[in-house]
Amino acid sequence: MTGQSLALYVHWPFCVSKCPYCDFNSHVRATIDQDAWRDALLADLAHEAALLPGRRLTSIFFGGGTPSLMNPGTVDAVIEAACTHWAAAESIEITLEANPNSVEAARFADLAIAGVNRLSLGLQSFDDTALAFLGRAHSGREGFAALEIAQKRFRRVSFDLIYALPGDSEASWSATLGQALSLGTRHLSLYQLTIEPGTRFAALHAAGKFEPLDSDASAALYELTDAMTAQAGLPSYEISNHARCGQESRHNLTYWRYGDYAGVGPGAHGRRLGMRTARHKKPENFLSGLRRNGHGIAEEEKLSPIEAADEALVMGLRLREGIDADAIAARFERPALVDWRRVDRLVLSGHLQRNGGCIALTPSGRLVLDHILGEIAVRDPKASAVARPLPVAPPVPAPKPALAAASSSSP
Ligand code: SF4
Repeated sequence: MTGQSLALYVHWPFCVSKCPYCDFNSHVRATIDQDAWRDALLADLAHEAALLPGRRLTSIFFGGGTPSLMNPGTVDAVIEAACTHWAAAESIEITLEANPNSVEAARFADLAIAGVNRLSLGLQSFDDTALAFLGRAHSGREGFAALEIAQKRFRRVSFDLIYALPGDSEASWSATLGQALSLGTRHLSLYQLTIEPGTRFAALHAAGKFEPLDSDASAALYELTDAMTAQAGLPSYEISNHARCGQESRHNLTYWRYGDYAGVGPGAHGRRLGMRTARHKKPENFLSGLRRNGHGIAEEEKLSPIEAADEALVMGLRLREGIDADAIAARFERPALVDWRRVDRLVLSGHLQRNGGCIALTPSGRLVLDHILGEIAVRDPKASAVARPLPVAPPVPAPKPALAAASSSSP
């Protein structure tokens, strides 16, 4: 494992308020002891580092929560510690998620000095009415101002928008997206609003207070998004992420290509040497776990080869480049990763592309990813070791975008 690449995810669990669509691990607290949290993150990081010696660190991602609320000194200390535990790759990518209000934008210079070289800005919308609906704590004007500051301070700046809000139309979304594409960004994360269980939106929806956009209208907006971003030179490289060539998030590519990543901080997930790790979600539980055990791990589970291969399939098919199914099967010593007869049917129906043992979604396949995964995943590895062609196209369900409104980078 020495010299093998590794990504590091650091979760900051605090926000100034809770957005009504958000199901991330975010908490609102009246006061935050920044020094105690710096020490806790450093201790949790040291625990992971001891279990993963000799790795080459290719990326660090500060996600949340709202990590732009961290003291820049804490960000600096975590980066320095990480680059001491592991050898940092020359081109290490260090991303921090930020909210665009003026207090946080004022910290951008210090965050850049601390070593952050890529900012991911949660703009979500340019429109004040939409921002109010989404419960965001910033205005459209603050968003533009923060983007301008970020683009001066950081070499790479991405921003997020949420679309398919109630009332969105092709005309309104195409105007918003056109504006976004004119702002000089080289990476965009574009998420459809989804109603997640346990959120305030879920309760409002259950009470009949609003109706989300229907699936046909959402699918039309997704197709419009794909076409406009491709034409502007930022095609999708993942279901919800778009970039100019070479500007993709290297950190997130590690998740989707099924590489190892250490996850530290409350609620962070990690993938380490065939183990799935999860930290305590509630900040107070995380701290007491850390005091007790020297780390914040709540669960650690050894994945079976079948589980790991299935995860690699689910993650990898999100990417435009798709997966080398034969290579994944060989990596996890399985006779086959997918049911090739079903794959070939989906090729005939225009939902998958296949080149030997490599498969990828087509644009229409991207609209029904969950359905495709259910179709092609191998249930009985012995029975499906057989391969190859079959003629009949299967019935395909009406498009229902398999997209998420999430912006968190800890999968
Ligand atoms: S959406 Fe982002 S800013 Fe809003 S509560 Fe969730 S983590 Fe915090």
